[in-house]
Amino acid sequence: MSQKNEVLWFLHTLSDACSPAPLAWRHRSTQRKDFLEKDDLKKMETKLLLSLPEGLEVIGINVIDGVLIISAVSTHPSACCPLCSSLATRVHSHYTRKIADLPCAGQQVRLLLQVRKFFCEVSTCVRKIFAERLAPFVEPWARVTTRLYQSVQTIGFATGGMLGARLADRLGIQTCPIAILRRMMALPTEPVEQVIELGIDDFAFRRGRKFGSILVDMQSHKVIDLLPDRKAETAKAWMKGHHSVNPFVRKKSWPLVGKVI
Ligand SMILES: [Zn+2]
Repeated sequence: MSQKNEVLWFLHTLSDACSPAPLAWRHRSTQRKDFLEKDDLKKMETKLLLSLPEGLEVIGINVIDGVLIISAVSTHPSACCPLCSSLATRVHSHYTRKIADLPCAGQQVRLLLQVRKFFCEVSTCVRKIFAERLAPFVEPWARVTTRLYQSVQTIGFATGGMLGARLADRLGIQTCPIAILRRMMALPTEPVEQVIELGIDDFAFRRGRKFGSILVDMQSHKVIDLLPDRKAETAKAWMKGHHSVNPFVRKKSWPLVGKVI
């Protein structure tokens, strides 16, 4: 609703409250109020439907080119300085972050989040102005929500880069094989436990101009690690740091082992 309409509605409501008004006018005012209540209800339902976190309030819903655009504002009264951890309440300015979120019923979702910059009021703090954080829902400087990031990671580990991109497209997630592989490689690797049988293969990224290696526990079918290239030296260095990998059985399962060991 435009600012002009808001002012008109406010004036109508004020007139209704302060003085007797013609019946038709009262009817119009009630209709406007009903509309507002329905609009607020719709925004509240959208927030619940999308599981937006506390502190984010939906202010607009739109569909542009088949993409569901949700506008939301941060409503926390204060923010914590990332440097000195003190609470700040004085707002410096606002800006909009465009964030991709999980699809809703197969439809792509974009969030337009209006967030604020605050003054840090601690005189000794080096950070005079800072942007409020929305973590863990969205990490600082991220262009996707954490839940979308983790979903793409999960798809990648279950299917791989190319197949993962096709599956994500069917699910309404816009991504590409390279992005999936990047998310997989960004995940901190778990400590490698005892591996009886190791499998290794290469994969292409950067449009086939660069190759990496994927290491898989052949018994549990679990990805153990990703290497940035497919050189025998890199794999050899990895082996030296992982003594829990059985070298005897590894020879049987790894055709390139002669170049590595
Ligand atoms: Zn500070």
